[in-house]
Amino acid sequence: MLLMDEFPQLPPEVWVCVFRFLTTEEKHTVRTCCKYLMKLIDHPSLWKDFTVVLSDVRRYNCGFWATLHSRKITRVAVQHLRRREWRRLVKFLPGMTAIVFVNGGKEENKAYKEKYLRDLKKFPQLGELGVRNASWMEPLLGLSLTEQLQDQLTHLSVCNVRLTCAADFIHAVSHLYNLQHLLYHQQGDGFGLPSGVRPVPRSGFHHMLSGLQKLKHLSWGMRGEPAEPLPDDYFSPPGSFQQSGRSQYGGPALTSLELVDYPETLLPENALRSLSSLRCLTIRYKYMREGIECRLKSWLSPLTQLTSLTIIGGNSLGAYTTTIPSSVTRLTLRVAITLKDMDSIAPKVPGLLHLDIEQNRSSGSLCRRIPMLFPQLRTLRIRFFRREPEKDLLSLHRLRHLVQLELLVERSYILRDYLNGHPWPSPGVQELISQLRALSDNRISVITTMRQRNPLRDCDCMWEGD
Ligand SMILES: [Zn+2]
Repeated sequence: MLLMDEFPQLPPEVWVCVFRFLTTEEKHTVRTCCKYLMKLIDHPSLWKDFTVVLSDVRRYNCGFWATLHSRKITRVAVQHLRRREWRRLVKFLPGMTAIVFVNGGKEENKAYKEKYLRDLKKFPQLGELGVRNASWMEPLLGLSLTEQLQDQLTHLSVCNVRLTCAADFIHAVSHLYNLQHLLYHQQGDGFGLPSGVRPVPRSGFHHMLSGLQKLKHLSWGMRGEPAEPLPDDYFSPPGSFQQSGRSQYGGPALTSLELVDYPETLLPENALRSLSSLRCLTIRYKYMREGIECRLKSWLSPLTQLTSLTIIGGNSLGAYTTTIPSSVTRLTLRVAITLKDMDSIAPKVPGLLHLDIEQNRSSGSLCRRIPMLFPQLRTLRIRFFRREPEKDLLSLHRLRHLVQLELLVERSYILRDYLNGHPWPSPGVQELISQLRALSDNRISVITTMRQRNPLRDCDCMWEGD
């Protein structure tokens, strides 16, 4: 280890620039060296978008809170705060902009009351609120909290939360008129409730959309299957006036829509026809029923501005590849894929820049085919689960614009199957990766680990890591 005297004499701001390249763990290591480095590492510019996870708030002493204060931390994930810890949060992190409560108040006798969130009004810059995996015995968004937050809240996410009344909650959300980003995934099993979860009815949903005219991204849970599918105009709230006998679309100009836990039976064929402003569409299917026709084919037709499409599960690709809009530049598929499917997708998306797929289930080399089919690719992500990548991986150097390649495996496959407990990437794959780098003159950077989970944004429904 270097002694302080041996340190290159650099101005502190240059050191701070250098430290920007470190991971959080590396920063913590450097910080333990001496007081001078500790001070530099705690510079706020190094922690700008960092989310601190307060997993055991009782353990933290004053020094810990003072460190958060000097780093000017603004984003917090927490399980549960008692009165004392709320006070500390107010005192040391007054500039907090985002907070998510995860896994708190799950048991019946610990369910939250309305007053639990009343201190949020002490954070004038708070714009982002999330609650996940929790239980509320009183309204989560009561009247006074809604009034306090309605001017400032731009992001709200509520996933797997037991609410006293979903309709009241949706009604309260409709008053948060500055929301740009809304995630609502109904609670799942595990709360000892009879399974009676139903989609939010049309009237309440329309009222909410009409109130949220600034909404850009909507992630909407679709749990529950009513006897009748939802009406044709579920995503088309009527406007306040009518023109030539037809009601105008009165909802926000959404650019991003995600349907979570979607059962194919719930929405009709023309459900998305009024959402022509969409640029991103994600459908996470719950399960498929035999004999139900795939609606994606007709959903995709009117989305002429779509640039990003993500499909998780659902029908076989052949059912909808013909209508994938040619404007799509980012495509993510978690669907069984064959080389034949790839052949039929390629002509539909000539400008594809980003592709994220699973290893093919048919025989033949995926890696050899990709450079011919998608020559413009900038990034490529493949999840392997049947066999390791082989020599054909080297064909990817023919992708002249490729700068990032992610090669991932699911942990369960490492433990259970072909890798027999070997680490990933195995020595053979590591050798292939260095050959690929050399072939591309180090243009392609190769990533083999899953990105870090964002504790604020990634709820359990979305997180695909281990
Ligand atoms: Zn969720």
